[in-house]
Amino acid sequence: MEKLRNTVYYSDNQLKNWIENESLNETLATKADAIRRNIYGDDVYIRGLIEFSNYCKNDCFYCGIRKSNKNVKRYRLTPKEILECTDIGYKLGFRTYVMQSGEDTYYRDDMIVKIIETVKNKHPDTAITLSMGEKSYESYKRFYEAGADRYLLREETSDREHYNKLHPSFMSFDNRRESLWQLKEIGYQVGGGFMVDSPYQSTENLIEDLRFLQELEPDMIGIGPYLTSKDTPFSNFPDGSFKKTLRLVSILRILFPYALIPATTALGTINPLGREMGLKAGANVLMPNLSPIMYRKDYQLYDNKICTGDEAAECKACLSLRVDKSGYKIVCDKGDVITRQKDF
Ligand code: SAH
Repeated sequence: MEKLRNTVYYSDNQLKNWIENESLNETLATKADAIRRNIYGDDVYIRGLIEFSNYCKNDCFYCGIRKSNKNVKRYRLTPKEILECTDIGYKLGFRTYVMQSGEDTYYRDDMIVKIIETVKNKHPDTAITLSMGEKSYESYKRFYEAGADRYLLREETSDREHYNKLHPSFMSFDNRRESLWQLKEIGYQVGGGFMVDSPYQSTENLIEDLRFLQELEPDMIGIGPYLTSKDTPFSNFPDGSFKKTLRLVSILRILFPYALIPATTALGTINPLGREMGLKAGANVLMPNLSPIMYRKDYQLYDNKICTGDEAAECKACLSLRVDKSGYKIVCDKGDVITRQKDF
């Protein structure tokens, strides 16, 4: 049990070479895939993503739904609509729902608690993952007690100066990190992560992220390439590197054998086969969209986001095919992090 989240140690120099060396993709992917198969076999867990609001009080310079973007058509799902998404998801075999949103204070804690309780009552064999940004300790605790199981909150960067280049001064590096520790303490399965090639990011910043994650020992780690988002202050920065992102997926699997690592939508957006290649590079989770189609295109964190026009059922069918073709299989259960050390 103790060894569960043990991470594997590699030197900064080794990590730097892995991150920067363009010729290492295959070597790293092969190593990562062997580790993943040893623990998770060919299982791919699916999470139904419900993007329930694109209102946000924050103003992250990289994000398309930032407060200052006046070109966004804002929407909110009602609790009833959220429940409908989970019902559709349940029928399709989803046993985890990820409730993601901008930081929207319209949803008071009581409302979120009610939604969590209702979903859990109706579908007791499911897990609820929250991804709604920074809240108070008390709110995190209430949501957990209401039945939420997991919380995704990417640290975005583990370097204070870099953080301050990506966010306006009213946002706090310390608060974001503190939140992650609080979530762990409360008992959530916690997810961290970052964007690859976000503006001003150096290799050293990425290594700092890996070191921070080794300290945090998260259950889930989500990464994707930074993607240009028009109507943001960073609209002139180019998309991140696809190949570097894949190398980082592999590095994460090597450092965190037990982590749940998604092949993210951003990876599928930058390359049509990005999610398949992400799985082959060590990822073992996919997060297809369950949000109502009419709102999908408005949850535009970055340009050209994929799957904005497909019904949930179509998404699921399309993904099953892609997963099969890649040599893995979709598993329809909660897909908790494996907590026992196997010999490998
Ligand atoms: N409000 C929630 C959810 C954020 S959206 C929160 O604060 O956690 C989920 C993730 O999308 C972010 O954590 C960020 O890493 C990523 N993201 C935002 N803008 C992006 C962009 N332009 N390119 C790639 N990823 C982006």
